[in-house]
Amino acid sequence: MTSSPAPQNTLNADIVIIGAGLAGLSAANKLHQAGLEVLVIDKGRGLGGRLAGRRIGDATFDHGAQFMTARDPDFQTHVAEWINAGVAEEWYSSYPGQANGHPRYRGVPTMTAIAKYLAIDIDVRRATRVESIDQHGQTWLCRLDSGETISSKGLLITSPVPQTIDLLASGNIKISASHRARLEKIAYESCIAVMAVLDGPTSIAAPGAIAFDTGPIAWISDNQQKGVSNIPAVTIHGSGAFSAEHFEQDRMQAGQQLIDAAAAYLGDARVTEYQVHGWRYSKPSVVDDHACLLLSKATALPPLALAGDAFAGPRFEGAVLSGWAAAESLVAELT
Ligand SMILES: Cc1cc2nc3c(=O)[nH]c(=O)nc-3n(C[C@H](O)[C@H](O)[C@H](O)COP(=O)(O)OP(=O)(O)OC[C@H]3O[C@@H](n4cnc5c(N)ncnc54)[C@H](O)[C@@H]3O)c2cc1C
Repeated sequence: MTSSPAPQNTLNADIVIIGAGLAGLSAANKLHQAGLEVLVIDKGRGLGGRLAGRRIGDATFDHGAQFMTARDPDFQTHVAEWINAGVAEEWYSSYPGQANGHPRYRGVPTMTAIAKYLAIDIDVRRATRVESIDQHGQTWLCRLDSGETISSKGLLITSPVPQTIDLLASGNIKISASHRARLEKIAYESCIAVMAVLDGPTSIAAPGAIAFDTGPIAWISDNQQKGVSNIPAVTIHGSGAFSAEHFEQDRMQAGQQLIDAAAAYLGDARVTEYQVHGWRYSKPSVVDDHACLLLSKATALPPLALAGDAFAGPRFEGAVLSGWAAAESLVAELT
């Protein structure tokens, strides 16, 4: 804990949230509704974290999360609200070879539209990394790569858990052995994602997506059929095993291997250009069994919570539910 005076050039907020992904933005909305002043900080240029989109020339890609499912009734209500607002729609409920009646919803025009909608009333600072966190008496200090410091009564961290562990270490924040054990058990799969522009349509059947259980590819989707891209463009996700094996190798070569493996689904189309993105923490493979983690509970720490898809379930929906649960815990601590 720092005991010196708070540094100059310090901004104030009731709650700072690290991460403008689904967990962070969902929590921000609940905290804002509870009358708290919230500031969200994200190192990324865009909103939504793993709901990432990208453009290559005239092609547009969803290259992170592809769709969401909705099982929780409260979450279903929010999906209905997003559909009403025009930022989401049902994409499909089954595709050839997989009889599964669960509706899959997508963002409109891209997955990031939902993050943008969630951020409407929220103060979000983008392209800004929180470099370290410190306890300063009964407040938290977040030091930003801009040189500024933000002081807050409460702190919510929603980064992937290995990055959260590093942030906690940056301020020498002491947590209990049982909390540490829970955090260290959480594990993630990596994913190599290829975004390829094509010179013609794919041969992928409607609705324009295929999931694979074996082989190097986990998922391939046709962004043009999905309605994301004006011109032919596919997203290919490497499987967990392929991505782990090739993550530290030349990304463009790994991408080419995935394109070669996808050839049967591209019809006569040729790839004219492609980019590759490596998601080190793509989806949690081992999750915690609580919806969030209130690290400050029964400690001398100011209110401090962790949230994200590693807590309430390894998906879009889990990240939102976790954000809501963390917001509820922080409201109870602060009011
Ligand atoms: C390739 C891929 C495909 C997927 N497909 C699906 C799918 O089809 N359906 C589905 O339901 N889910 C899918 N998922 C999972 C889904 O995207 C995630 O579960 C969800 O988006 C996680 O949200 P989150 O808020 O927990 O984390 P994130 O979205 O990772 O948000 C954390 C944020 O914290 C920011 N951050 C981290 N450290 C710092 C720092 N020090 N300072 C400032 N900011 C920081 C990051 O920039 C990031 O924006 C997929 C994920 C990937 C990667």
